Amino acid sequence: MSGVLIANLAYILSAILFIFGLKMLGSPATARRGNACSAVGMLIAIVAGLASSGIVSPQWIAIGMLIGAVIGASAARLVAMTSMPEMVALFNGFGGSASLFVGWATLAGGDVSTFTAVTILLSILIGGVTFSGSLIAYGKLSEAINSAAVVFTGQRVVNSLILIALLASGFMLCTVPAPDSIWLYAVLGLALLLGVMAVIPIGGADMPVVISLLNSYSGIAACAAGFAIGNNVLIVAGSLVGASGIILTQIMCKAMNRSLANVLFSGFGAAKQGKAVEGEVRPITPEDAYYILEAAANVCFVPGYGMAVAQAQHVVKELGEILENNGTEVTFAIHPVAGRMPGHMNVLLAEADVPYEQLIEMDDINPRIETVDVAIVIGANDVVNPSAREDPDSPIAGMPIINVDKARTVFVLKRSMASGFAGVDNPLFFAENTRMLFGDAKDSIGSVIGEFS
Ligand code: NDP
Repeated sequence: MSGVLIANLAYILSAILFIFGLKMLGSPATARRGNACSAVGMLIAIVAGLASSGIVSPQWIAIGMLIGAVIGASAARLVAMTSMPEMVALFNGFGGSASLFVGWATLAGGDVSTFTAVTILLSILIGGVTFSGSLIAYGKLSEAINSAAVVFTGQRVVNSLILIALLASGFMLCTVPAPDSIWLYAVLGLALLLGVMAVIPIGGADMPVVISLLNSYSGIAACAAGFAIGNNVLIVAGSLVGASGIILTQIMCKAMNRSLANVLFSGFGAAKQGKAVEGEVRPITPEDAYYILEAAANVCFVPGYGMAVAQAQHVVKELGEILENNGTEVTFAIHPVAGRMPGHMNVLLAEADVPYEQLIEMDDINPRIETVDVAIVIGANDVVNPSAREDPDSPIAGMPIINVDKARTVFVLKRSMASGFAGVDNPLFFAENTRMLFGDAKDSIGSVIGEFS
């Protein structure tokens, strides 16, 4: 069998593994296997690609894989769960820059057809936007830069001018595709600038959407790079990432009840100022919380970012088991954007082995929230903020929330009265049926568990 045929068969196998992997990622029960399946597919694709092109010797492939594996494994071990979204943002950026370099290198390779020149342009342009946009998203998420939306007068005009200049430079580059062309550097610079300009007007609270959109861009850039170098598996992998990123973006927008255009262009959080919230706060002790929980027929945990910070998932599961043994029905309500990345709460609860049947999505819990005896909010804030429903001037107006305020009793576990990620006051904390259990969520739940024994 010829080398090319073997490589193509390996590519088909990789594509099949990617598709099965993606399918398995659709359920928390099979997600780990799906991830492993896709990773094996990628390994086969990379080895087949490098070996068949014959430009790198096997020992360099092995050395490259070893270095990559050490960096990947240490990042996965060392980066805290709470910092995963930043890491995903960086990965997207690296994906974009890789496509940019592939496009650039192809241009440096000599004579290219107009079609190849267009695909090179796309990989540099989209790769560049993804790279710089992802770095800004990383900065906002890690709070290395201010997470608020940066808006200024004439911003859209400036952005439109950058886009026009970019398209014009791109046209010139395709007409004379040379590696030392001034138009290449113009496209590079303008693409990087556009990435920055596209992400700075988006507020921190919209970062989930931005991250999944940038993820999609990194796939589209890889797909264009695949066309540029004529590599089928890169086209397939890029299209899968591009398409799944767009689908996730749609799901996230739906979860916030907003259109993509509104997220990208409205400067969310910059202009609106919600109603000031005040009233009486009713703190509760772990002992009093115990008496109420002991008598409850059903309890619904509503986790948020604070559960990740406190690493409280294991004690939450323990309290859930104690309540169940006490005859209480226990559920976990998951908001699609709770935490700092899509699926954040699912990952944490899966890590603590919370049974999947106990997880309920927002749309399923809300219609029956009035029947919940106690809703225990663990470090969630924005995703349970009733002002999203009631205050049209609130920066988060229209974002669907878990309506815990309609449960019979609400316990809110957090350390202070501080606002959440969107920086908005929360009237839930002053509601008559709300009791605040102040302190680190893990310690507070530990104290409640202590009362049961
Ligand atoms: P929020 O960020 O709104 O609130 C988290 C709360 O947790 C804070 O108010 C904080 O209060 C509390 N907290 C922090 N540490 C602890 C601790 N150790 N123990 C107890 N409580 C703690 O989180 P939500 O999950 O409700 O909302 C997520 C927000 O993040 C949304 O605005 C969403 O749009 C945004 N976002 C979501 C992403 C995603 O993909 N899921 C990505 C990026 C942003 P205190 O300091 O008083 O303890």
